[in-house]
Amino acid sequence: MDFGSFAARAADVEAEPADLEVVALVTDLFADAGEDLRVVARFVQGRVFPAHSETKLDIGPRLCYEALARAAGTNVTASDVEDRLAEAGDIGEVAANLELGGQAGLGAFGADSGGDDLTVSAVFAELEALAAAEGNGSQDEKVTLLFGLFNRCSSEEARYLARLVLGEMRIGVGEGTVRDAIADAFDVPVDTVKRALQVSNDYGLVAETARDEGEAGLDEMHLEVGRPVQAMLAQAGTVTDALDEWERAAVETKFDGARVQVHWDGEDVSLYSRNMEDVTAALPEIVEFVEEHVEPPVILDGEAVAVSAAGEPLPFQEILKRFRRKHDVAAMREEIRVELNAFDCLHAGGDDLLEAPFVERYERLEAVVDDESAVSELLVTDDPEEIATFEERALESGHEGIMLKDPDAAYTPGDRGKHWLKRKPDVETLDLVVTGAEWGEGRRASFLGTFLLSARDEDDDSFETIGKVATGITDEELADLTDLLEPQIRSEDGQEVDIEPAVVFEVGYEEIQTSPTYESGYALRFPRFVTVREDKPPADADTIERVERLAAQQG
Ligand code: AMP
Repeated sequence: MDFGSFAARAADVEAEPADLEVVALVTDLFADAGEDLRVVARFVQGRVFPAHSETKLDIGPRLCYEALARAAGTNVTASDVEDRLAEAGDIGEVAANLELGGQAGLGAFGADSGGDDLTVSAVFAELEALAAAEGNGSQDEKVTLLFGLFNRCSSEEARYLARLVLGEMRIGVGEGTVRDAIADAFDVPVDTVKRALQVSNDYGLVAETARDEGEAGLDEMHLEVGRPVQAMLAQAGTVTDALDEWERAAVETKFDGARVQVHWDGEDVSLYSRNMEDVTAALPEIVEFVEEHVEPPVILDGEAVAVSAAGEPLPFQEILKRFRRKHDVAAMREEIRVELNAFDCLHAGGDDLLEAPFVERYERLEAVVDDESAVSELLVTDDPEEIATFEERALESGHEGIMLKDPDAAYTPGDRGKHWLKRKPDVETLDLVVTGAEWGEGRRASFLGTFLLSARDEDDDSFETIGKVATGITDEELADLTDLLEPQIRSEDGQEVDIEPAVVFEVGYEEIQTSPTYESGYALRFPRFVTVREDKPPADADTIERVERLAAQQG
């Protein structure tokens, strides 16, 4: 395909506001791309190499301005290009308006002719050569190669080449558009295309396979150990969201580290970051661990966490010091230790597991790693109390919080869906008065356990119940709270006690609901004890009016 034809189609796409029409235009482009289909499928998204490829153009803006200036003739400098960019705001617009081609005598064809039939494959071959330039003088070599390309460009070609090399294509073609266009162009089901993209991460390869081998060919595409997969991502969410949606939740610690995908085929271990960069060299202790404790072939997902000498998690910044490090890795390793916390298994023993339910992938994970300290602990439950206790423990051990996962969900690469939730910390807390309690059971029989909470009614200075809190309290705190509240007991009825309003608790919660259960007409979902507000008398506790306001703000 001529690069000029590609550029003209890109211009049509860019000018088209309707999504459906964009898909139709891209579909035609793919159908006409011929032997350049692989490259075209990437170029149209502003990508030169496949997403999983380690090859990078490594062209900074300055270098691109320099090449454009050279192609534009002696009276244009890189600074001029930069000035024009400041005005136009789009490098494509600047490139399209320079009179390129004068330098090599190609001006004879006229600046707009793109005279020498530049093809998509020729552009790609030059860009490959450019990416391969390394070492001393490589910057000059890159400028020269890019200058040579611009020199051969018509203005429309220059517009899209400039944007392509700077990663600023922006013609409105996202991954979804390409997926739909591949399905339409080659008459294959969109879900089949989607799956093939997930396992291969290679739009060009999928487009070509769809065209040449159809649905059957796409079905044959699998994960490859050593080729990174896009990471599944999480949304913010609450325990309420999780239990309402799935009935039971898989609960894990949210580690404060850096995402790491482990590939181990028995010969080599490769580690990839969340953006699929190869970070193997920076993390030798994870490589060693995997070689020793993990059964190949596998692809695992997890978090690399920095730990202190005592094994306690260190803040996120510490892992960054290790993560992309190319030099002095051995010395840094002495200072900051890195540990793997694996939480998912995408491939094991020849089986692709992306479509398996999470709990099943977790079982495979446990089966392939023979040291459980590297496997994230999992709780599957429908009990909010258990979740709260788990969270409490995670926070106490210095972790960031918890993740809630749909136990039955597939692994969806690159997707920030609602099957993985990072639990939002409580946004607001309420200061509520303790007006009752219950004696505990068993080991806790001599302590008050569950506390009845009330909000203040300003109209008549009374207190109206709003909920009970029992979670978030350690044994030690229970003893202290019992000492504090026992003197305030007004009456007892079995395990239940009535308490004089005297003590104010700060309480976190996920949501306020209207409820007939309590006098105030409201109830708290997943209330959690935060602390005793020693500084606050009951007369300063939160009012029902504030509860109403907060409830309304939740939308
Ligand atoms: P965030 O970066 O705030 O969007 O949170 C999502 C990130 O948390 C993921 O990309 C992981 O790097 C990290 N994470 C930590 N622990 C877990 C876990 N148990 N499961 C999934 N992701 C986790």
